[in-house]
Amino acid sequence: MSSAAVVDPARRAPQEGGLPACAVEVRGLTKVYRGSARIPGKRALDRVDLAIPRGSIFGLLGPNGAGKSTLINILAGLVIKTEGSVSIWGIDIDADPRGARAAIGVVTQELMFDMFFTPREHLDQQAGYYGVPKRERRTMEILARVELADKADAYARTLSGGMRRRLMVAKAMVHSPPVLVLDEPTAGVDVELRRHLWDMMRALNAAGTTILLTTHYLEEAETLCDRIAIIDDGKVVACDTTAELVRQVDDKRLIVVLEHPIAAVPESLTRLGLALMEPERLVLHYNPSRAAVGTVLDAIRAAGLTIRDVISEEADLEDIFLRLTAGDGKP
Ligand code: ADP
Ligand code: MG
Repeated sequence: MSSAAVVDPARRAPQEGGLPACAVEVRGLTKVYRGSARIPGKRALDRVDLAIPRGSIFGLLGPNGAGKSTLINILAGLVIKTEGSVSIWGIDIDADPRGARAAIGVVTQELMFDMFFTPREHLDQQAGYYGVPKRERRTMEILARVELADKADAYARTLSGGMRRRLMVAKAMVHSPPVLVLDEPTAGVDVELRRHLWDMMRALNAAGTTILLTTHYLEEAETLCDRIAIIDDGKVVACDTTAELVRQVDDKRLIVVLEHPIAAVPESLTRLGLALMEPERLVLHYNPSRAAVGTVLDAIRAAGLTIRDVISEEADLEDIFLRLTAGDGKP
C-alpha cells in the first residue's frame, strides 16, 4: 500500500491567487469492465462529463447499475478508467495520482474495517497512511464532528451500524481533504440516522468541504444537494441545479378531452401551447405558478370546441427521473 501525501498548501491553490472553481472535473470518462468467463464485459461509464463546483453539495443520482460507484471508485483510485480525464482540486489523476488522492476523502459503499480496532486507532492508522504528522492529527476533533467522541476507545465491533457509518466518514476526513465523496451514505439506514447523516453533511459543507454523494433516493438529492446529475446506463442524462431541475418538473399536464375529434389545433390554441395528442385529446404542459387554466379552457370554448373532460396530472422529480432513466427508478 503506497502512502499519499497530505495536500500541501500550494497544491490547494493550483491557480495562482485562488482556489479551483471546480472541486472535481471529469471529461469524457469511460470505463469498460473487461468480462471474464463468469461476468460479461460492461461499459459502465460512457463519455461522462461532469463539473462539480467548489463548495457545492453535488448529488449523483441514478438507478442501481447506472455507474455511480464506478465513477466514485475511479475518483478514489480504486478503479482504473478506460478513457477520459479526471482532475480533483485542479490536480490531474494521471499526472499526479498521489496529489489527487490527497485532495479527496472517499467513503465507499461497503463498510469495511477491522472490528478489533477502536475509532481512535482507526483514525491514527489512517492518518499514518496519509502521512499526517502526529502533531497535526485532529483525531478527537474529527470524532467529535461525527459525534463519536465518547466512543473513541470502544471496539468497532461494539458500535451500532450508524456509528460504523459515521466512523467511515471520520476516517475519510483524517487528512482534511477539501473534497469528500460518499457512495450511497444512507442506503439501508433508518430515517433517524439518515437525517443525522444529512445534518452532518450539511455541517461539513458549511465548514467549506465540497461534498459529492451518490444516491438513488430522489428525496435525499432534492433536500440535500444544490446540484444534481442524473446518470443512467453509464451516461449523464441530466445535470443542473436542483432548483432548475425541480422547476422543470414543476410542470403539470393538462389533458382536455373533446366531444368531437379535430384534425388540427386552431391557431388561437397553439399560441397557448396546446398540442394534439389524439384527435380528441389536447395536451398542455404548464407551470401552475405561471399559467391560468381558466383562460386556456375559455380559449378552447371560444374556438368552438366542446369539452367533455379535463384531466390534470402532476409531474415531479420522480417523474422526470423515470422519464430519463427508462423507467427503472425504484431500487
Ligand atoms: P451503481 O453504483 O450505479 O449501482 P456500478 O458502478 O456499481 O453502478 O455498476 C455499473 C455497471 O458496471 C453495472 O452493470 C455493474 O454490474 C457493472 N460492474 C461493476 N463493477 C464491475 C466489475 N468489477 N466487473 C464487471 N462489471 C462490473
Ligand atoms: Mg453503487
